[in-house]
Amino acid sequence: MRRKLAAGNWKMNGLKAELDQIDALTERHADSPIDLLICPPATLIAAAVSRVANDAMMIGGQDCHSEVSGAFTGDISAAMLADAGAGAVILGHSERRELHQESDELIRAKAVMAHQSGLITVVCVGESLAQREAASTLDIIAAQLAASVPDGATGENMVIAYEPIWAIGTGKVPTLNQIGEVHDFIRARLEQRFGTAAGQSIRLLYGGSVKPDNAAGIFTVPNVDGALVGGASLTAADFSPIIEALK
Ligand code: PEP
Repeated sequence: MRRKLAAGNWKMNGLKAELDQIDALTERHADSPIDLLICPPATLIAAAVSRVANDAMMIGGQDCHSEVSGAFTGDISAAMLADAGAGAVILGHSERRELHQESDELIRAKAVMAHQSGLITVVCVGESLAQREAASTLDIIAAQLAASVPDGATGENMVIAYEPIWAIGTGKVPTLNQIGEVHDFIRARLEQRFGTAAGQSIRLLYGGSVKPDNAAGIFTVPNVDGALVGGASLTAADFSPIIEALK
């Protein structure tokens, strides 16, 4: 059985004061039957880790470099994230793919490095609106999965997030049938490549405008094992009902 996962991506939001939201979430969801992950900005990772007691929540990064160390001003290595107490890292978010021109190959190299540091990778895939309208969604997803997910992916080290770019931060959400079609497709591809056991054990998250009022519906879709949430993960008031819907 795959354990459900509610993951929050704070993006470039959050100062020390916002760590109170993590306190509120861990208090409200102590002994949760599902896994919780918050990925705050890198500046808050160590402080966030120190606020979480009893493994109530995992703290993660939002990106890491593909090299171990070196002259990469401003970048953060996977080992640094792990050293700060992170247990996971988001890779290949569409904002990184678009704004930082990250290729599938680079994302794959980052994932290899993250796995070497013992981090769980949350690899994001998703189509643009133009690609969906051109009926090439599944081709795009297949190509992204093939090139950005490294060999050796298992349910222990890999999570895939399906995030249609046109749904991120827009309030637009695919129909449940559209979400189901892509998640079933991803599951089949993972089983084909990694074998039934590993392919079945990798968790698949839906991401893109998940809110308290639409989460329960999205979580009824087969092969949706949780959500990667942006805006609605910033406050405990918004994220909490999403977590409840997943329980
Ligand atoms: C995201 O950025 O991963 C995301 C899903 O954002 P939002 O929930 O705000 O659409």
